[in-house]
Formats: sequence, structure tokens, C-alpha cells
Amino acid sequence: MAGPRARQGYTRRERIRRADMVRAHVEQFGWVCPGWQRDSHPAENLTADHVVAVGAGGREDGELRVLCRACNSARGSSMADTRAPGLDIVLVAGPPCAGKNRYISEHADPDDLILDLDALSEAMSLAGTYEFIEAHLPIVTEARDAALERLLLGSHKVRRCWVISTAPERKRRAYYRDRYGARSVVLWWPEETCLLRAMNERPPQWQEYVRRWFDRYEQDPADEVLRSWQPAGEGSGSGEDA
Ligand SMILES: [Zn+2]
Repeated sequence: MAGPRARQGYTRRERIRRADMVRAHVEQFGWVCPGWQRDSHPAENLTADHVVAVGAGGREDGELRVLCRACNSARGSSMADTRAPGLDIVLVAGPPCAGKNRYISEHADPDDLILDLDALSEAMSLAGTYEFIEAHLPIVTEARDAALERLLLGSHKVRRCWVISTAPERKRRAYYRDRYGARSVVLWWPEETCLLRAMNERPPQWQEYVRRWFDRYEQDPADEVLRSWQPAGEGSGSGEDA
């Protein structure tokens, strides 16, 4: 992706935006690189670079990601970028009832691809919404992963794909970043809020899904964590969710 040569072409405003992004990262996590196809590690040469390179159709003011220089160049030659340049994959993770679908409704374009295990599961059985059939899980998961693998092969016109997964383990989220060049967003609400929503809006087993997520959740500086996110224009205290 953007190497030192490409970087010189950016406007002053863009260089300041990048410096601010690195500074905010350092304030929050210290001089730590989130790592690209390796674990997070101490690094002094952190840079903020485009998630989608300008050369691959991204905008100069598009989303940035902080990595050390070594990881950034490793990322530039990763499979997703080579085979499907400009493809933007976003993993939306978080506990059940955190509003992952609503986040995507707010941010996705109509021609974006959306891979949602719950929706796939519903499409592949007679069960109703949220009546997840655990026995189907391995098959439904493979259907989703096959779609992701297909994206990597290129020869398609998909520009952006959203993947919904609760993904409490950091390894799971790192896998999406490393293999698919994904950006990982974690939508986080307090456990009590998620439990309350599960109680009001989902079948009974969802309360257990919520508890299980919070037991297993591992933080990772490589995630973009959005606390108590809700759609623009919505007041606080909304019990709604999707
Ligand atoms: Zn690094």
C-alpha cells in the first residue's frame, strides 16, 4: 500500500490528521504496534495509513489504521490487497444485542455485501429470526467463510463487505484482519444493557449468549472499540436493538 513515496503526495491537512491519529493511539495504548500477521509488539516507528489505499480507489480522508512501518509494508503485500485491491472488509464484532446490524444499516451502501451468521442461519432453515439452531452452526459458518474466501479470489465487483460476528476472542478478530485485510470494529455496551435487551427482545437462550461473550471477551488495541454506539439522532436510554 502507500509507501514513503506515495505518502509525500498528501496534503498538509492529511499529514496532520495522520500525526493526530498516531498521537491518540500512543496516548491510549503506548508505543505498541497492533501487529500485522503477528502479535502486537512494542514499536517506535508507528505510522497511520489508509485502510484502503488511495491508489486502490480509497479517499485521501478515508479511514486510517496505525501500524509500525514493518507491519505496514507486510500489509501492503498481503493476499487481500494483492488479489482484490480496494476491497474493504469490515468485521463488526461485539456482544449479542450490541446493535451490530443497526451499525451496518447506518454505514453500509445498498451494494455492499453483508455476511451475517444469524441471517444466513435463518435463510437456511424454517426457524424464525434469532432462533438459532446450534446444530446448523458448522454448515452455516462454512457458507459464510466460503463467501469470504471467494472475495479474496478477485474477479468480482464487490467493493465492501461487512461481516457480523460476536468474535469475543482477540485471535478470532486478528484472523479477519490478517487473512482478509479486515478492519475490526467492536461495538461494546455494558453487560447489563445487553442482558436487558436480550430479555426483552430475544429468545431466552440469548441471555446465556450475552454472558458467554462477556466471559470470553479479550481486548486488543488493534480493534476500533465503539462504546455505547447508537445511530445518529437517537436519544440515550433506547432499549431497541437489531
Ligand atoms: Zn508492527
